[in-house]
Amino acid sequence: MAVPKRRKSKSKVRTKRAHHAIGKPNLVPCSNCNSYKLPHRICPTCGFYKDRVVLEPKVKKAKEDN
Ligand SMILES: [Zn+2]
Repeated sequence: MAVPKRRKSKSKVRTKRAHHAIGKPNLVPCSNCNSYKLPHRICPTCGFYKDRVVLEPKVKKAKEDN
């Protein structure tokens, strides 16, 4: 198995890792409620996908009581 001849310097490692940041998610407005959602996914706010209800949105009752 091939083995690196010498260890990478801190500078080389840090230069490489400078590109490891996570990018912003691509958000699009929902066609029903206009809240931002991920494209090609059910809206987490209203449960709509392609102009019809696919999934009933979760109602957070426990948090509203507190
Ligand atoms: Zn929606």
